[in-house]
Amino acid sequence: MLQSKRQNPIAKKILFLALGVVFLLVHTAYKKEAAKNFIVVLDAGHGGTDPGTMGTGRYKDSEKDIALEVTLSVGQLIEENFPNVKVVYTRKGDTFPTLKQRTQIANNANADLFISIHCNANPNSEPSGSETYVMGLAKSEESLRIAMKENAAIFLENNKGSDYDGFDPNNSDTYIILSLRENTYLDKSITLAKHVQDEFRAIGRKDRGVKQAPYYVITFTNMPSILIELGFMSNRTEEDYLQSKEGKENLSLSIYKAFKKYYSQHSNSENQTTDEPQPQNQTMTVSADGLIWKSEPKDQVVFKVQILSSAVPLSKNSAEFRGLKRFEEYLSNGTHKYIVGCSTELNEAKQNQKILREKGFTGAFIVAFENGQRITMEEAIKKTQK
Ligand SMILES: [Zn+2]
Repeated sequence: MLQSKRQNPIAKKILFLALGVVFLLVHTAYKKEAAKNFIVVLDAGHGGTDPGTMGTGRYKDSEKDIALEVTLSVGQLIEENFPNVKVVYTRKGDTFPTLKQRTQIANNANADLFISIHCNANPNSEPSGSETYVMGLAKSEESLRIAMKENAAIFLENNKGSDYDGFDPNNSDTYIILSLRENTYLDKSITLAKHVQDEFRAIGRKDRGVKQAPYYVITFTNMPSILIELGFMSNRTEEDYLQSKEGKENLSLSIYKAFKKYYSQHSNSENQTTDEPQPQNQTMTVSADGLIWKSEPKDQVVFKVQILSSAVPLSKNSAEFRGLKRFEEYLSNGTHKYIVGCSTELNEAKQNQKILREKGFTGAFIVAFENGQRITMEEAIKKTQK
């Protein structure tokens, strides 16, 4: 009796603590759910029986496959880094939603943003570069031609466009009527489109600019909407890039970064800062040649591999790079140094080093950086072990 009486306050304390933990858990779970304050619809162009452009015909994958791959990885990046954002896909596999269904998915979801992803083609094999469209009257024949081509997907649908109340993708009057639709969201659409083009430019893509054209899918959505033409599959060099893993990953990352910029400006989220990419899970693992490339988190040590150094800057196509497509250059005491890969994990840098040595960079060694500044390995290891 006496003993149990003495234990009582402890038991009470435990019960109190347990209740506290339960409350906290419920509270956090509730907060997570309630915090989904932004919906983005990602629309991979074409699909199923509509392959989109076939490009030069040298590859098995057509526009629908590239659009889907890029769309899914943009979505994955957003989902991983923005728990507040709900990502809705118009298709996640090789299916063919009609243009009307795509806009309905976005409108029914009450989405905040609509991003449609496509690849371009031209009868001429010369044109190259990326462009992003917002709704409106086409300012050039070329923009109108591309919009008409994309809208023609309607004819591949089961009921050959009879669903569209007189919307005829081949009739120029249709486009005049379309462009007269009120566009409450034009400003925001242009903002996002500009961010996309800025990011593309930053990775060295040819910038064809932000353009207007009466694409069906960005005209009938009731939210800021853009349509991205990643590049020309009719241009051999560009098609090679669009078909490459590296190309698709870089383009996805650019679109993600543009979204991130737009989101930080337009979402009224209180808790987005806590949900920013955490250093522990770096945003992107780009791996060309099996090499690990991750984003460089602020105030965190990252490991890279130095492959070459030179008193004079080396040309990108220099034989010394042994066909390596991706590397960074930095200048230190007048010496140009070339580095590859990026990770907060020393082990991953070691993997990169191994791959690079096998490629013939026998002297490849690991270097460490923090906020873009080179630090000694000793310092880096001390910091990462904390
Ligand atoms: Zn397309």
